[in-house]
Amino acid sequence: MGNREIFDQVSDMEKQIGELYEQLGDLKGKLSDLLEENHRLAHENHHLRNHLDNFTEESVENEQKQSDAKQQKGVFPGEGYDNLARLYEEGFHICSLEFGSPRRNEDCIFCLDFFDKTKL
Ligand SMILES: [Zn+2]
Repeated sequence: MGNREIFDQVSDMEKQIGELYEQLGDLKGKLSDLLEENHRLAHENHHLRNHLDNFTEESVENEQKQSDAKQQKGVFPGEGYDNLARLYEEGFHICSLEFGSPRRNEDCIFCLDFFDKTKL
């Protein structure tokens, strides 16, 4: 193989390495996005699990109380309402459209609709 061919091959490799390096950079960026997303979701999941645990505990505790109270007065707005209001205030949707997903500090008309409907 002549010097010219060797030179061409080296140039070719150089180009390929450049492209690979670029792809590596892209992948690294995507990986970092994924890790960030994963972290966010794990955090959100943890948060929602805590809420779910509270809901479950409180609803078991309240079942007896409520079945007594139901005979005397309406159930709304009760503990369930308070839980949902708290969830909303902590920045999560409580509407059926996006229940449990973060509101990103924006009010949601569907969530607010819930408050309107249940306000006495
Ligand atoms: Zn909502």
